[in-house]
Amino acid sequence: MLGLMQDWPLLISRVIDHAAREHGDREVISRSIEGPIHRITYREIRQRALKLAQRLSRDGIKLGDRVATLAWNSWRHLECWYGITGVGAVYHTVNPRLFEDQILYIMNHAEDRILFLDLTFVPLVEKLADRLPTVGRYVILTDAAHMPQTTLRNAVAYEEWINEADGDFRWLEFDENTAAGMCYTSGTTGHPKGVVYSHRSNILHSMMSLQPDCLNLSSRDTAMPVVPLFHANGWSFAFSGPMAGATMVMPGAKLDGPSVYELLETMQVTCTAAVPTVWLGLLAYLEQTGKPLTSLKRVVIGGSACPRAMTEKFERNYGVQVLHAWGMTEMSPLGTVCSIKKDYADLEGDALYDIKMKQGVAPFAVEMKITDDAGNELPRDGQTFGRLKVRGPAVSRSYFRGEGGQILDEDGWFDTGDVATIDPHGYMQITDRAKDVIKSGGEWISSIDLENLAVGHPDVAEAAVIGIAHPKWDERPLLVIVPKPDAQPDKEKILAFMQGRIAKWWMPDDVVFVPEIPHTATGKIQKMALRDRFKDYRFPGV
Ligand code: AMP
Repeated sequence: MLGLMQDWPLLISRVIDHAAREHGDREVISRSIEGPIHRITYREIRQRALKLAQRLSRDGIKLGDRVATLAWNSWRHLECWYGITGVGAVYHTVNPRLFEDQILYIMNHAEDRILFLDLTFVPLVEKLADRLPTVGRYVILTDAAHMPQTTLRNAVAYEEWINEADGDFRWLEFDENTAAGMCYTSGTTGHPKGVVYSHRSNILHSMMSLQPDCLNLSSRDTAMPVVPLFHANGWSFAFSGPMAGATMVMPGAKLDGPSVYELLETMQVTCTAAVPTVWLGLLAYLEQTGKPLTSLKRVVIGGSACPRAMTEKFERNYGVQVLHAWGMTEMSPLGTVCSIKKDYADLEGDALYDIKMKQGVAPFAVEMKITDDAGNELPRDGQTFGRLKVRGPAVSRSYFRGEGGQILDEDGWFDTGDVATIDPHGYMQITDRAKDVIKSGGEWISSIDLENLAVGHPDVAEAAVIGIAHPKWDERPLLVIVPKPDAQPDKEKILAFMQGRIAKWWMPDDVVFVPEIPHTATGKIQKMALRDRFKDYRFPGV
């Protein structure tokens, strides 16, 4: 017997239809690439996305075609996602921080047919265009007045181009499992791999992300995704914001502390999200200037581990709730969020921050477990480390074109490559990437725990820990530190600070100071590059 409810495929066009109908006057406010602040409503965005869809189909773009974007967060980028998916084509977000060869690789692998790009990226793309044979047109996200001279094939100014259509168009209807978007994983080994989201997975994931114990967005919020749309599906904000009817603030290209602060305050942002490095910049600016945060209620921090000092500063000094989140490109991307359950509601002070350091709890639609190397499930005791495995309707089942082969086990679990504990209340804590964990005397040392502790020292701006070969212990931790400007920490001071806060055998064998730590295109510490840099390093006396 079948249920007798309507067959209403979960298509992305429904999201912008809903936002335009129920929250039509709500604004999307952007710092434009051209400079000025730009304001537009959801109703207007929908109308312009319809024109874009109509114009794309006139250019022959059809179901399943890949259309790339190389763009910062702006109202135009949002329109691109809705216009592209509205004709059943697939938005492919290209991360401009990738190396040129990687950009070429992923765009050719995806066989992108059109590229929408910000003015910022015209010089970069002009260098690459000869090696992008599938791209038939370049649409520059600007108006005629700002259109640069360019050698790009069939280049047009976005505003002119969409105005060739009148918007008298209906979204295409198709199966909800149709591909909607693509994002390549950063790929520390081998080529990047294409993660392909469907309409259905995006809708389910966005609904999931709106739950009170996740991002808890509502029509009373002003949400600023500082996380770029090209990083892990933009953490779903392009859909969850309009779904909730939240005002959105799109920060464009300027993600430094002062620029982020200016938008947070002038637009009275209530909820924002980004990787820890962005918040390091903001907090440094707040400390230098003594300025307050007057409207911000919640900050979502994920993409790499949020240091304890960062959580404490936001919460204690500025009264802003930190939501530590963990996820992956392959998970659309949210996996867990650390909101405080009833079980921990009575905790205070350090005991509460011990919980807030964890990556959090899986919402409905994410299942997770930890296993040993043989695949046996390990206990949820908060102590035992294991390989973190996940499954759910917004988790990848394969990469584009089957790259990397079979990625699920026979029960449908995806191995995240992370090592974690899960406590009896379901709080997951990442202890490391499987390949970054330090193996000392047959036991594991969490590089993340050591990094979090080290950045708690007032002279430390950033810290990374890598395993260095050791004749007796196999590997021992080396702590690499970027000091704060004007600070002159020394090894003894740092080690004294860490002493007693971790097991003795976890103490780093040495501390080195560097001006800078390399980051990946999505803001994570590049452990591979760091290991490479210190490959000839030997501990003193070893
Ligand atoms: P990406 O797909 O590029 O976003 O990378 C996903 C990986 O980032 C995860 O598998 C984790 O290793 C790491 N990651 C994401 N969020 C966190 C977090 N809150 N704490 C620690 N690691 C994280």
